[in-house]
Amino acid sequence: MASNKDQTVAEKLQNLHDLQSIDSEMSKIEILKGELPMEVKDLEDEIAGLETRVARLESNISELDAVVSKHAANIKEAEALIERYEKQMDNVKNNREYDALSKELELQKLEIQLSEKKSREISGQNHSKQETLVAANERLASKKSELDTKKVELEKIIEKTTKDEEKLQRKRDKAQKKIEERLLKAYNRIRDSYRNGLAVVSVARNSCGGCFNKIPPQVQLEIGMHKKLIVCEHCGRVLVNAEMMASNKAAEKAEKAAAKAAAKEDKAAATEDKTEEAGA
Ligand SMILES: [Zn+2]
Repeated sequence: MASNKDQTVAEKLQNLHDLQSIDSEMSKIEILKGELPMEVKDLEDEIAGLETRVARLESNISELDAVVSKHAANIKEAEALIERYEKQMDNVKNNREYDALSKELELQKLEIQLSEKKSREISGQNHSKQETLVAANERLASKKSELDTKKVELEKIIEKTTKDEEKLQRKRDKAQKKIEERLLKAYNRIRDSYRNGLAVVSVARNSCGGCFNKIPPQVQLEIGMHKKLIVCEHCGRVLVNAEMMASNKAAEKAEKAAAKAAAKEDKAAATEDKTEEAGA
């Protein structure tokens, strides 16, 4: 292979474009791999939240059950006292004793009524908590099964993409070697500074494929000749002539996908382009 420095500009551009195609393809895989783990993480968070909720409900329910039991014991105690006082009533010696016992009896009867009322209230609360618990448990079970499915899906995707990535990485290593260090550094710097990871773009609809700003006809002509390395004056991306690039179809598709993502980011510019196209 000839030294990097001996390459013509057209060759340099071709090599940069090839590297960009590979990188765009790799970014696509990264996006795909990134979405599923996020979904898994969201599910795991939701499940943890539901588990906390279920545990809290269960502890609330058992606390309320304990209160109901306490009232039941209260009632029993009061009933025992009533039985005792009624027996004593049969053997009262004077009015004062009678009045005192009557008062006690009345008090215990009230005690029972109160405990019964409280018990009913708490049972009602407990019932609605039980219903909430059943619903939470159902949701928890469905989220757990959803998580299992997602994990299997993720494993499959990782398995498949790992192979694709290894292949692309080998291609990338080769493609990178063809580019002189100075250019490679610039390429990486530009790529890192944009979210869509595009450093080499073609001209589409008289605009830069990266930032969608207009490219003057004279500059477009120069780009078309591939005699000079030309960068977009707005975004600094390297501009190439798409037709001259003997790139494979898959790589082109990847670039288009990335450009589409960029178009979404800059809707205003894209709309402007369309309007112009329609008018032309
Ligand atoms: Zn630009």
